[in-house]
Amino acid sequence: MPELIIIGGGITGLSAAWEAQKNGISYALLEKDSRWGGKVHTEIVEFPEGNAIIDGGPESFITRKPEAWDLAGELGIQDSVINPGAETRHMYILDSGTPVEVPLAPVKFASSRLMSGGGKLRMMLEPFQPPKADDADESLADFVTRRLGREALDKFIGPILGGIYNTDPETQSILVSSPIMREMESEYGGLVKAVIGRMRKARKNKSASDERKPRFGAFSNGLQELTDEMVRQLDGDLRLSANITQVGKDESGYEVFLENGEKLSAKKLIFATPANITAKLLVDIAKESAEKLATIKHENIGTVTLIYREEDIQSDFLIHGLMIPRRENRAIDAVTYTSLKMPTRAPKSYGVIRVFFGGSKPNVAEVSDADLQKIVQDELASTIGITAEPIQIIPFRWLKSFPQANVGHMGFVDEIEKSLPEGIHLAGSSYRGIGVPDCIQQGRQAVKNAI
Ligand SMILES: Cc1cc2nc3c(=O)[nH]c(=O)nc-3n(C[C@H](O)[C@H](O)[C@H](O)COP(=O)(O)OP(=O)(O)OC[C@H]3O[C@@H](n4cnc5c(N)ncnc54)[C@H](O)[C@@H]3O)c2cc1C
Repeated sequence: MPELIIIGGGITGLSAAWEAQKNGISYALLEKDSRWGGKVHTEIVEFPEGNAIIDGGPESFITRKPEAWDLAGELGIQDSVINPGAETRHMYILDSGTPVEVPLAPVKFASSRLMSGGGKLRMMLEPFQPPKADDADESLADFVTRRLGREALDKFIGPILGGIYNTDPETQSILVSSPIMREMESEYGGLVKAVIGRMRKARKNKSASDERKPRFGAFSNGLQELTDEMVRQLDGDLRLSANITQVGKDESGYEVFLENGEKLSAKKLIFATPANITAKLLVDIAKESAEKLATIKHENIGTVTLIYREEDIQSDFLIHGLMIPRRENRAIDAVTYTSLKMPTRAPKSYGVIRVFFGGSKPNVAEVSDADLQKIVQDELASTIGITAEPIQIIPFRWLKSFPQANVGHMGFVDEIEKSLPEGIHLAGSSYRGIGVPDCIQQGRQAVKNAI
């Protein structure tokens, strides 16, 4: 009987197993699918000229939150971390059907047609806006409007953040999605002041290891390199195709029932599954917690990667990324020209484009592959003018699996955790942040809380 059972073998569950192993705790890690990693999923497509490396889910991670970078160090694979390219270069926003470059340099900002003169002026007055007087949560929309003005939200910041979090900025909690912005405000009184202050501080405190650390990291062979390496180094009871159908309680602890009829027992359980799944599994042993968990909404999300002959997708402008605000009423949410951003992702003479969907039109994730291909190709043609036939398309879908953290989410998670019976712990993207570093942190913390 292991001391700990971890349910779910995505990055969160694997990180929990890693932490348990480091602390000498016996564990079983149970994953429903026939592969590890959950949303961390890399496919390698072979061509005579070399491989295309396709990340279906996360592709890069931020290193300001150190967990992924540090984990790569512990696993001995930090040398495989590459810089995915400046995420902010050549980024466009679709505005009334036309891609407009995100104006990050001051000269471009002044001349950009993305915002009116009044909207730009309001943004420039950001340093003079008073900071929030309390610590209460608020929506991304309220935060951005308060500091930078409504037009900045509608035209500029909202589309970028909405695209990243696949969510509606009007309901999304700032404390879950961008706590850094609130920290900057409370520490320095405003965003512009904070950027200057933090740059000065960083310059002063730069260490040798910071020199090597990119602002964003990716893995040369795809993000699955991280989960694959963890699996390789984990030596506990690791089971794939282990679908947990029910969890019960007996006198010695908890009983975990697998679809194949097996039963495992342990005194402590970590649920590293999305909250809507955890809700179903907890219903027999923690009804009140299960009911609360079930109210955390999870949306569809997916990506399609299209591989082209490079000459077929030559474009007049160098577009690394396109964000599509919901008001444009499109069937897709964002486009990344992956092989421009990271040339090592495709052999020479091939071009790789990744399209995100699910946010503005969740039902797009539920159509057949053939219909999805048509929808995506139509949208690429009408937004960035790509009409060529791809030589391969690779879709990934996660249905009802992308958490939506509304205002007050953190307080609600605290409440749920307080309602859990002893020995039950939760971790993962449904709770305290969706990014890969957040999930690693939560998986590891759940073990620390359990022991
Ligand atoms: C398209 C996309 C792009 C993203 N891009 C980025 C990015 O660039 N950077 C970033 O930091 N983050 C990104 N994210 C977010 C990040 O990838 C996820 O939040 C994170 O991978 C979630 O990990 P997890 O382990 O908590 O959940 P999951 O990966 O969902 O893992 C949960 C696991 O539980 C298993 N499971 C479910 N039910 C059962 C059951 N009954 N029994 C046993 N096992 C079960 C599932 O099969 C799954 O493997 C992206 C997410 C998506 C979808």
